[in-house]
Amino acid sequence: MASFSELAAVLDIVDPSLLLFRLRLERCRGCPGRQLEALWRAYLASFVLNLPSTNALVRRLEDDSALRVLCGFSEKLPHRTTFNRFIQRLSHFPVLVEIALANLTEEIRELLPDFGRVLAVDSTTVRTHGNPNRKVLSDPEASWTAKNSPRSKGKDGKEWHYGYKVHAVCDADYGLPVGLITTTAKRNDSPWLPRVIEHSKAFLPWLKPGAVIADRGYDAESNSCYLYENGVAAIIHIRETRKSKGKGEVHSLDGRPICMGGQPMEFIETNIYKGHRYTCPAGGCDLRDSMSTGIRHCDFETWEHPSSNLRFFSWIPRHTKTWKDLYAKRQSIERMFKGMKQSRRLEGHCVRGLRQIRLHALMSTISFQATALVKIGTGQEADMRWMVRRVV
Ligand SMILES: [Zn+2]
Repeated sequence: MASFSELAAVLDIVDPSLLLFRLRLERCRGCPGRQLEALWRAYLASFVLNLPSTNALVRRLEDDSALRVLCGFSEKLPHRTTFNRFIQRLSHFPVLVEIALANLTEEIRELLPDFGRVLAVDSTTVRTHGNPNRKVLSDPEASWTAKNSPRSKGKDGKEWHYGYKVHAVCDADYGLPVGLITTTAKRNDSPWLPRVIEHSKAFLPWLKPGAVIADRGYDAESNSCYLYENGVAAIIHIRETRKSKGKGEVHSLDGRPICMGGQPMEFIETNIYKGHRYTCPAGGCDLRDSMSTGIRHCDFETWEHPSSNLRFFSWIPRHTKTWKDLYAKRQSIERMFKGMKQSRRLEGHCVRGLRQIRLHALMSTISFQATALVKIGTGQEADMRWMVRRVV
């Protein structure tokens, strides 16, 4: 739980001026312009304080005069419906909320110069408040998705979620958000890798990652192609297919070519023109050729250029320690999602509909990012990465 001084610092570090300017242009009944900033601060505080709903926020404000003052409510506290109406209106301007997030990310980048160098991509589900079991669906935009889970109690070994999916990019060294897109839950993850990276670049034009890490759900020719063409090393786990389990595959799952004798070949060196050199581990296996009963030898060595098979090859070969160390950083995004769910209200809401969930996910991300920025900015000379990991 955030301390009061930390909460105050978080509320001050987020700049909502563009958003409030836009909202002031269309004053509506019951939402006085001079209270807009206080409503914004209270809404943001509800994420930092990890409150489960807007009702909980209003109750907290009624009981906590210090919080009321911190948010800037000088007069009577607005009615609960005013808060809901404010959130409704805010959800019409997601781009302006994303700009507020991008401003925070920009500040983080100034403090952490290598921020955005290694990225991790993944998705997480966010429930809807709508009920899937009604005859008339209360949230027609929500949908079901299944995830393989060893912890699942169901017969199919799957965990089912109803609602939405947040596709996100984070910095894999610091575990901090870079960008996100919210969709209905049933969307397949794979096509969202280039989209969420391009979406992040639109808000952060300086973003030029050297490597992108993703699990096997993102293993696709199109993703490898996209990353290769952008000069980014793809650190993506290979999806095991029936074909790759059987014989006749020309590459092992760790991306090494297989020689004619069926052995995964040994990596020797990398040449920027020719690619990676591999040799047969047995020094050229002997093969008895059934047609002529003669003895053939397999190729002693082969060159594999990354562009010849983008899914398997990369300038950082899969079987190297560098590749494995990078892949291990994928945990950063899982940790980020966990932090947002456990302490930044990502699942704590009573809203439904894509637009509302999109705003909710953005606010959770903003509060996460702002807390990190406050912690980094207070400049304790401790190991920055270690500190950031413990932010939330
Ligand atoms: Zn061989």
